[in-house]
Amino acid sequence: MSGQNAAPKEFNPLEFLSKQSNNLKAKYQQNLENYERNTGHKNPLASEKKEWRAVLSPEQFRVLREKGTERPGTGKYNKHYETGVYTCAGCDAPLYKSATKFDSGCGWPAFFDAIPGAIDRHDDFSFGMVRCTLTQKRTEITCRNCKGHLGHVFYGEGFPTPTDERHCVNSVSLSFHDEKL
Ligand SMILES: [Zn+2]
Repeated sequence: MSGQNAAPKEFNPLEFLSKQSNNLKAKYQQNLENYERNTGHKNPLASEKKEWRAVLSPEQFRVLREKGTERPGTGKYNKHYETGVYTCAGCDAPLYKSATKFDSGCGWPAFFDAIPGAIDRHDDFSFGMVRCTLTQKRTEITCRNCKGHLGHVFYGEGFPTPTDERHCVNSVSLSFHDEKL
């Protein structure tokens, strides 16, 4: 990997948000407190599925924790173009800025880049999301902070974006905040 794909190994949402937005930092901390209140554990990373079941909606659980895929064209952020930031629906860590969102026409929210260090990429040879055009490779993406499943990255499809990557993300894995980072 090279260029903007060379993401830092560590990602600390609190540190990141401390510099960027007190409002989002407060939301992130509140999410942690809710998690602890509902599960008895502080850290989403240490959590088990049954804990997530207590804090996520059934559809969020199916996608984030069981690598499900929402039906194309049904997600609430598919055609959503407000200015702000998209955080993880599981842990509220910041993942994508609205400035990197574009209309892929594929039926899911599409971004051409993530906030540096916020996501992990894993090679994936199963099938869930549909390709928009014929591509060679598809990579699963997860939230680095809580390991929740977000969707997939497709490469080299020819979209007129700076990276020619399509981060195809389930709306249900995201939470939008009207906040400029
Ligand atoms: Zn997360």
